[in-house]
Amino acid sequence: MSNTPRAVRGMNDILPADGPLWQRFEAIVRGWLASYGYSEIRTPILEQTSLFKRAIGEVTDIVEKEMYTFIDELNGESLTLRPEGTASCVRAVIEHNLLFDGGKRLWYQGPMFRHERPQKGRYRQFHQVGVEALGFAGPDVDVEHLLMTARLWRLLGLAGDVRLEINSLGGPESRARHRQKLIEYFQANEALLDEDAQRRLHTNPLRILDTKNPAMQPLVEAAPRLMDELDEAALGHFEAVKQALQDAGIPFSVNTRLVRGLDYYNYTVFEWVTEKLGAQGTVCAGGRYDGLVAQLGGKPTPACGFAMGVERLLALMLETGQAGTLARPDAYVVNVGASAGRFALQAAETLRDAGLAVTVHGGGGSFKSQMKKADASGARFGIIIGDDEAAAGVLGCKPLRQDGQQQRCSLAQAVEFIKES
Ligand code: ATP
Ligand code: MG
Repeated sequence: MSNTPRAVRGMNDILPADGPLWQRFEAIVRGWLASYGYSEIRTPILEQTSLFKRAIGEVTDIVEKEMYTFIDELNGESLTLRPEGTASCVRAVIEHNLLFDGGKRLWYQGPMFRHERPQKGRYRQFHQVGVEALGFAGPDVDVEHLLMTARLWRLLGLAGDVRLEINSLGGPESRARHRQKLIEYFQANEALLDEDAQRRLHTNPLRILDTKNPAMQPLVEAAPRLMDELDEAALGHFEAVKQALQDAGIPFSVNTRLVRGLDYYNYTVFEWVTEKLGAQGTVCAGGRYDGLVAQLGGKPTPACGFAMGVERLLALMLETGQAGTLARPDAYVVNVGASAGRFALQAAETLRDAGLAVTVHGGGGSFKSQMKKADASGARFGIIIGDDEAAAGVLGCKPLRQDGQQQRCSLAQAVEFIKES
């Protein structure tokens, strides 16, 4: 058994039994995005490594230790499996000049890759649905994203299970002032810093605030607050966001230590959090990133976006009793005999031409054992074909979910019968 192939650690197969829940989620998400006028963008899963270094920041968890980066041996290029979607989306928007006629509302979905320690809610390949609005200075577009996400939780039946935390990171000047104060504060308490924090002290002190080490919490809680450094413009923007949330009746709390793990954020940042999934409780996160487009070589363009973790949302739907059910065929075609087998394939195609979902029994067996399979498939009708039926060009049609006798009928009659009941 030891040389049986296995999936890469932290990368999951999504099995047929999981399909209905994924499909239900995806169908709701598509309808929801359409209702806000967002267009889909699909970018490659691989990008130049430098894109992520420039966009996300050299001194972030993602770039320092979570990226799947390798050299393309054919040409020596350094490539990276995308760890998130915003960088690729902005790259594509600039490359194709998508903003030539004004702002754009975009969304994407698909697998992301991060080399993290696998655990519940944390995988090495996971899926995100992300939304980006480029070219809108806000705060109304920040609010759009918050109202949008709140609506999605209602559509998914999760409104009671998640809560909203928001913060403002201000602009570059307030961050520089705060950074200086943070460095002084942490230096004065250097003995209390863990290894990670010591390393971050001079490179990215803001990220120390995002530590998950419980021993560091008291120190971090008493640290200088970025909120106290915000200028009037940033405060005004933040007030407008808070007011709009109140107007819309969406409860939120201000978490002044919410910093996000990617460098490109400024002004509004937010997370939707649940208590029902243990430590991996953030199901959706985002905010403004007004500097990123210019930083990647485009014209200065305000922007705002968010991404949600699909596996975590599905886990939450399961936790709250919302598993989907497998799709059931309209008809299951039982066939015994060589010419019956050939006729069964033709009959199934004709039924599908009429828009019905049909499973043809494969692998032989008696009528009795095949009828058991038909029943177990959940199909509404059994179509029964033996060599006699095949010779006469007719079939037996038997309701499986309601009372009724097996009828001998033509294909056209079977279609009518199944469609009408
Ligand atoms: P965390 O603090 O949990 O590490 P993050 O700040 O790294 O999250 P983002 O980069 O903001 O996460 O990604 C947005 C969302 O994607 C997260 O809120 C989460 O729901 C999901 N996510 C991130 N990393 C993973 C992962 N390794 N496995 C599963 N879902 C993930
Ligand atoms: Mg992370």
